[in-house]
Amino acid sequence: MYPFQYTKAKEASEATATASRQENSKFLAGGTNLVDLIRRDVVHPDYLIDVSHLDFKTIKAYNGGLRLGAMASNSETAANKELKEAYPIVSQAILLGASAQLRNKASNGGNMLQKTRCPYFMSPPFPCNKREPGSGCSAINGENRLLSILGTSEKCIASYPSDMATALTAMDAVIQTRLSDGSERSIPVVDFHLLPEDTPWKETVLKEGELITAIDLPEESKEFAENSYYLKIRDRHSFAFALVSVAAALVMESGKITKARLVLGSVAPKPWRNREAEEMLLGQAPSENLFMEVAEKALEGAKGFGENDFKIPLAKKGIVRALRIASKSEA
Ligand SMILES: Cc1cc2nc3c(=O)[nH]c(=O)nc-3n(C[C@H](O)[C@H](O)[C@H](O)COP(=O)(O)OP(=O)(O)OC[C@H]3O[C@@H](n4cnc5c(N)ncnc54)[C@H](O)[C@@H]3O)c2cc1C
Ligand code: SF4
Repeated sequence: MYPFQYTKAKEASEATATASRQENSKFLAGGTNLVDLIRRDVVHPDYLIDVSHLDFKTIKAYNGGLRLGAMASNSETAANKELKEAYPIVSQAILLGASAQLRNKASNGGNMLQKTRCPYFMSPPFPCNKREPGSGCSAINGENRLLSILGTSEKCIASYPSDMATALTAMDAVIQTRLSDGSERSIPVVDFHLLPEDTPWKETVLKEGELITAIDLPEESKEFAENSYYLKIRDRHSFAFALVSVAAALVMESGKITKARLVLGSVAPKPWRNREAEEMLLGQAPSENLFMEVAEKALEGAKGFGENDFKIPLAKKGIVRALRIASKSEA
């Protein structure tokens, strides 16, 4: 293990100033991902800035919606009464992730920035463009069962595993941040993560030293509460990352779908929203045929790399099932 310095920031301004001043620094929240990566020699920060105790822990009503503090734990967030009532899909998704012990430590901000579970990224002797730019991608012709079928590049096919971010994308959630010059930014979750293209090591739009302070759920998304469902398909029923997940959220009026959100998780380097597939649902009554056509559209252009070919038919079946449950149809 490489030596590093540790500091506990007293305020957000101190955290962002230190991060922009100190080269190769990282914020530390629950540490459930970062400490693991340090122990495995995957990342070697020279400076850890502990932000876990900063005053962004509350979950409160905001602008008619709900503001989730970045340092609130995943457990506390999932158990929040207002979240469960107004945005149940987010609570469902969080509770299907990790284990109770991990969710007690994991923060909402850290969850957005968790790293891929690509086995080669996690194993330093292997070439990996994300960990070591230019070294190559071991996964394209290797062990890629968990990896992406959409949004990949010749440089990287890693998948992004956050259940919470997949559900937040379906709810049009917005990430709030603070920069070192004191300014603030609002970034929709759907625009937060980048595709690998030629630079797989650039994973989000965050700037140097930019701190996530909150995640906002908009008032308008409350109307999905009645007809939403988070489906997680995995090897084990608990304590396993998704092979495929589907966040399906609908608004139904007089038996017809009037609004739709469809987001896939663990099949792409970011939560994968398909607007064309969503539009196919509008004005329609739920039916098995419709859901199958939507699933075909959502997987258009999907490409497997051998071990993960099975994800394409699995995702299609998952979409049909999630839409069937969300629409409460007997289709
Ligand atoms: C065994 C295991 C199983 C898991 N299973 C699942 C699963 O099934 N589904 C799932 O979705 N997740 C799963 N997880 C991931 C878990 O949810 C994440 O590890 C956790 O959410 C990360 O939060 P943290 O606070 O511990 O982040 P940390 O580990 O502290 O930090 C993670 C990253 O975020 C950065 N960071 C943290 N806070 C901020 C902030 N406020 N602003 C800017 N940057 C910040 C850190 O610098 C670091 O790069 C699993 C984890 C483990 C270890
Ligand atoms: S898929 Fe991405 S993370 Fe995995 S080995 Fe290839 S470059 Fe690295």
